[in-house]
Amino acid sequence: MGSCRIRRTDAIRYESGDLGRLPAAIRYSTVVRMSDQHEITIRGLERRFREGEREHVVLDGIDLDIARGETVALRGRSGSGKSTLLNLIGGIDSPDAGDIRVAGVDVTALTERERTLFRRRHIGFVYQAFNLVPTLSVADNIRLVLELNGTARTAADTRIAELLEAVGLADRADSYPDVLSGGEQQRVALARALCHEPAVLLADEPTGNLDDQSAETVLTLLDKLVRSTGGTMLIATHSNSVASYCDRVLELHNGRFDRDAGQ
Ligand code: ADP
Ligand code: MG
Repeated sequence: MGSCRIRRTDAIRYESGDLGRLPAAIRYSTVVRMSDQHEITIRGLERRFREGEREHVVLDGIDLDIARGETVALRGRSGSGKSTLLNLIGGIDSPDAGDIRVAGVDVTALTERERTLFRRRHIGFVYQAFNLVPTLSVADNIRLVLELNGTARTAADTRIAELLEAVGLADRADSYPDVLSGGEQQRVALARALCHEPAVLLADEPTGNLDDQSAETVLTLLDKLVRSTGGTMLIATHSNSVASYCDRVLELHNGRFDRDAGQ
């Protein structure tokens, strides 16, 4: 967070024209820091999996910058590496080569324990299969994330109530996941993913198991809730309609982006 403040100060200096009076070396480092305003920066990312004798190159040297507050759709056929890329950004998996910077943190330099803490604090995940804890009520599914982040009980209660209201499930706080429809479970999963106001929301085929109507509801909510907090979102999807909610669409093909990744 400290580095964010430095960047803002630099931007103000730049606007006020002071930058021109600084020595070249400092000007250069200032420019580097200012270009670091991306929430996600990826350079030379490689991920390979071995299948017997054969090595399968899933990500083949990817570069990507995603600005803070930007929402990006990640498309590509099944097996093209969408989930692999999301898992690397979220610190669930680690790459064979390359750098990943998320929310100012060099994710590739973290130990496994540090990656867990990083993920807990900065990342929200939404999965195709909802992945709610079946033995916990709707409210307690969300509470679990807040507790892991050290949120006090009363603040957690308020936040849970706000979020359930926002996703239209205020009356289902005490229900268990198995009595909810798919669309309702995914709305709980959205509330859970966003409750700690993560810097980055990663959604892996979030509408893949939903009918069209529920998918539309979930997408509208995702878009609204993520934008309202200024969060950055990356959604892996097959669907054209998901892509239309996003600022940018990237196509993964043969381990690379087919289209310009906007750099
Ligand atoms: P997508 O999400 O685009 O469908 P994935 O990222 O799940 O694609 O998978 C990309 C490729 O990597 C697939 O061929 C898959 O079999 C392979 N893969 C993913 N994870 C593993 C793993 N842990 N071990 C071996 N192969 C894997
Ligand atoms: Mg996938």
